[in-house]
Amino acid sequence: MIIFGTNSSTIHPEKLDGGSCPFCKTKNQMWIQGYRKYFHVFWIPCFPLWRKVYSVCSHCKGVFEKQEFQSKELITSFEYFENNKIKIPWYHFTGIILFVVLITFISFLPILTK
Ligand SMILES: [Zn+2]
Repeated sequence: MIIFGTNSSTIHPEKLDGGSCPFCKTKNQMWIQGYRKYFHVFWIPCFPLWRKVYSVCSHCKGVFEKQEFQSKELITSFEYFENNKIKIPWYHFTGIILFVVLITFISFLPILTK
C-alpha cells in the first residue's frame, strides 16, 4: 500500500514596508505570510504544488488578500515579497531527489558488482 497525498508547510512571515491596514487603518503593521502545498508519498515531500499568500495585520489580526489593499505602496511591497522572497524550500523535492539517486544507483549496480 502506498500512502500519498498533500500536506503544507508555512511560509515564514515577513513584515511589509509601509501601507496601512485596510480594516483598522494602523500604519506599518502589515505582515505577509502563507503556506505552500506539496505532494507527498509516505510523508516524504515529492514536489511542490501551489502556494497561498496573504497578509495579516499585527494590530487587529485581520487577514487580507492583495485585492483588499487600498494603498499602492502596500501592493508594491506585497508583490515584491511574493515574487522575490518566497522561494520553494529544497526539501519539497526530497522525493524526486531520492528517486533520481535510487535510479542512478540501480543503473550503476551491474558495473559496481562486476
Ligand atoms: Zn488592522
